[in-house]
Amino acid sequence: MSTTPPLKRNSQPPPPARRTTRSGEAYQRAVELMPAGVNSPVRAFRSVGGTPVFFKSGAGGEFVDVDGNRYIDFVLSWGPLILGHAPPSIVEAVRQAAGDGLSYGAPHPREIQLAERVLSAFPGMERVRFVSSGTEAVMSACRLARGVTGRPLLLKFEGCYHGHVDSLLVKAGSGLVTQGISDSAGVPPELAALTVVVPLDDDVALEKAFQKHGPRLAAAIIEPMPANNGLLLQRPEFLAKLRSLCDKHGALLIFDEVISGLRLNFGGYSNLCGVQPDLVTLGKIVGGGMPVGAFLGRREQMEQLAPLGPVYQAGTLSGNPVAMAAGRACLDELTQSSTYATLESLGAQLDELFAPIARRFPWFQWVRQGSVFWLYLAEGELPRRTDRIAPEARARYVALHGRLLDRGIYLAPSAFEVGFLCTAHTPQQLQRFAEMLEIECEAVAELT
Ligand code: PMP
Repeated sequence: MSTTPPLKRNSQPPPPARRTTRSGEAYQRAVELMPAGVNSPVRAFRSVGGTPVFFKSGAGGEFVDVDGNRYIDFVLSWGPLILGHAPPSIVEAVRQAAGDGLSYGAPHPREIQLAERVLSAFPGMERVRFVSSGTEAVMSACRLARGVTGRPLLLKFEGCYHGHVDSLLVKAGSGLVTQGISDSAGVPPELAALTVVVPLDDDVALEKAFQKHGPRLAAAIIEPMPANNGLLLQRPEFLAKLRSLCDKHGALLIFDEVISGLRLNFGGYSNLCGVQPDLVTLGKIVGGGMPVGAFLGRREQMEQLAPLGPVYQAGTLSGNPVAMAAGRACLDELTQSSTYATLESLGAQLDELFAPIARRFPWFQWVRQGSVFWLYLAEGELPRRTDRIAPEARARYVALHGRLLDRGIYLAPSAFEVGFLCTAHTPQQLQRFAEMLEIECEAVAELT
């Protein structure tokens, strides 16, 4: 990809007033029907201020709200839309499958087709079970680990989010960070006590935790690319240490790859870090935009699941044919040789575009791994653990968010969530993102 030309300074006129009448009306109605008007808390814009935008359609790297405003989308449904909005191959696969029936509650070939593709992407894994969300995948994997080992405790890392599984809502990231809640109400302390929490990037704390709890640990679970409390990239040696401690103490290692799985390559994070987990959890991309989760493992462990084994796990809509068809179409696109190269080159373009902004504003930093990026708006070392994130980074992000929204750039409504690129993003869209970002960084610099 050619080097992008330097940005013009302040060449843009102020943003046209964004129309918000219909979103406003929709929000007023929604709050009368659903708590905060949303079905998942981060969508409510509580941590950036303002009210949520309501959307009506999307195509490629953009989507359109109910007032007709267009946005370049860097949230992409929080990761699943790796091919962008409404990719024709997935839409067609969904149409065909829907015409054949929406659900059977019985086995069908589309499950086999997706299972073959998923297992081909994760060569160490021999069996998969499909569920309907990332949360369900993690919940089931943890139950399996406890069932297989006969042990009660789970070890997790501070800031890693694993869905709203009761025992993992302890020092989790995602919507919980933005709300400033470290534990959710409704999780009995007795249950939370079964979860051991360790900081990321801290070998000593990790060793101590295993020393103390090793014989009772069923599993350690980690996002190998922690992406729910900023993007806190870990040293491969840290992941290797975790693997060896699990082996030494007879605990299973679960890689929660709901974000990282199929996002960075046609497979998992072990291809990048060289560490092989026992169980992998997937969500998001595996369903191509439809509700699908999955957990994978070796045959001996996975066959402990009901009906072969004693670990119960089930789902009325698990393996739903329409969702399986979407996942299959998505994975088929991902196996095209150009997909990850395209994403990497878009990511490299983002680096090039961001570099001059960082030269102007020393507090402008970013972390990127493949098509995942995080704007870290503070000076100093890039953090690898939650307690190293500077508080001013959040304040600057909050100031920036609404301004970028007015300029047609849709970033996650939280300073702690990452941004995503998709194969449908164009170099022009990234260029526009950077131009708007630079203009608004100037405004934020004046404020802070
Ligand atoms: N694990 C990770 C790493 C996640 O990022 C998420 C959701 N963002 C989940 C689990 C939960 O997935 P879901 O929202 O589909 O339940």
